[in-house]
Amino acid sequence: MPIFATRDWHTENHCSFQEYGGEWPRHCIASTSGAAFPVSLTLPVYTKIISKATTQARKAYSAFSETQLHELLQSLKVKRLFVGGLATEYCVLNTVKDAIGLQYVIFLLEDAVCAMNQKHDDGFRALMEMKRLGAMPINYEELVL
Ligand SMILES: [Zn+2]
Repeated sequence: MPIFATRDWHTENHCSFQEYGGEWPRHCIASTSGAAFPVSLTLPVYTKIISKATTQARKAYSAFSETQLHELLQSLKVKRLFVGGLATEYCVLNTVKDAIGLQYVIFLLEDAVCAMNQKHDDGFRALMEMKRLGAMPINYEELVL
């Protein structure tokens, strides 16, 4: 089964950073340790890495935003996506919204997402929204057993 791992890959002066008018502290600057996947995340060697939010002046929460992800999935005839990651209410939510709009069937790995919860229920509300849009909740732990 193909695996895609997405990451923010920001310029040093990305517009999403607070010092440039955005809402986030500096994070995931391209080619730095801050943009690296955690060592504890074991990815197969055939994992395709998708870097997003690479343009200084544009925010991109969705993995489909200005990336080749859709074209790659289409070339592999992928119809179903199992989605996990963080943050639930930002990148996961926007990726799932775009994926549903592109007619993918979404299985949302509820035990493999994590919210920032700047408001205590942000993650919960995002999960409800994704389910309302048609994402089917599933547990990663159940998949791998
Ligand atoms: Zn970012």
